[in-house]
Amino acid sequence: MTDLSRATALLTIDVGAVVANWKRLSALVAPAEAAAVVKADCYGLGMAHIAPALFAAGCRSFFVACVEEGIALRRCVPGAMIHVLNGPLGGDEAEFAAHGLIPVLNSLAQITGWSSFAKKGSGAPAVAVHIDTGMNRLGLSEPELERLAAKPEILAAMRPILVMSHLACADDSDSPLNARQLTTLRRLASHLPALPQSIAASSGIFLGRGFHLGLVRPGAALYGLNPMPGRPNPMSQVIKLQGKIVQVRDVDSPMTVGYGATHRVEGKRKLAIVAVGYADGWFRSLSNRGHGMIGGMKVPVVGRVSMDLTTFDVTDVPVEHAHPGGLIELIGPGHGPDHVAEEADTIGYEILTALGRRHHRRWTGAEGAAS
Ligand SMILES: *Cc1c(COP(=O)(O)O)cnc(C)c1O
Repeated sequence: MTDLSRATALLTIDVGAVVANWKRLSALVAPAEAAAVVKADCYGLGMAHIAPALFAAGCRSFFVACVEEGIALRRCVPGAMIHVLNGPLGGDEAEFAAHGLIPVLNSLAQITGWSSFAKKGSGAPAVAVHIDTGMNRLGLSEPELERLAAKPEILAAMRPILVMSHLACADDSDSPLNARQLTTLRRLASHLPALPQSIAASSGIFLGRGFHLGLVRPGAALYGLNPMPGRPNPMSQVIKLQGKIVQVRDVDSPMTVGYGATHRVEGKRKLAIVAVGYADGWFRSLSNRGHGMIGGMKVPVVGRVSMDLTTFDVTDVPVEHAHPGGLIELIGPGHGPDHVAEEADTIGYEILTALGRRHHRRWTGAEGAAS
């Protein structure tokens, strides 16, 4: 949606803040390399606007989830190293080669499949090898690594450039699993040639220098989510979501509000109906629990969030703020995605990646404005 006057909501994405967050992490982990995880369209915030700005700031290694994302990213950052976390899924190997994508190989089957593909071409294409150290999601198991080590000809057809693993409990610095996974990675990596290693995503970076290894893979922290839940957020806020008020109405008891009549009006109140609902990623679980900000005041969601609309109680808000056509801030500096996530009983990652397609999107920051 491009026409601001007709838009139901305005989503402002501060590309400058994303770049500042990357630079902060990059300085924190140096001499380790800071990559950028830009999967799911930069967690919903617009890869085409963000990735080139990160590249311009000096970021050289990027991670996406799937081949389609890798192809789209290649158009944005021709000179970058692009890792594809899912690796080849059978039949798409030629796409990796055509677009210069680096597959992350997650199982012995993926490695042998890639080996037969690589033997048909010339040169040894770069790959990353993913070892499982306790997440039990993707990655080679110890028995698979032993089988691989016994057959060096399999890896001979390719050029491994990175060995990586992923932490299960990095956002809990007290979890004994963190150190155990790091030790396991170091032990299991000895089955492979000596390579740069990587285990930390956003939260892992804050577990200490021992977790930085050769390269870190932050995503969430770049987009302003707190990598250390329960502690002050060291990252800059990136997004602001403002919903447009469609109607303001006066109500009185004994009226109720919305589907299911879950909110009972107590006395004379003023309601603002905002044109953002669960179809826009404003979660239904925010019903009778979420908040917005208007004119510097915090206003509660009353009644159920519906598909296209949410009702706020704006009784105490001066009329110059709460009027049809006015804006209520649903996500913003004092009320960030992590905070909304808490009210919606989910995580900030889901709030970002669910941001709707109906919002009028605006990218700001020097680099964002240029693209
Ligand atoms: C998504 C992902 C990341 C980034 O994680 P954040 O918590 O967003 O920093 C890093 N590595 C892997 C393997 C991932 O899947």
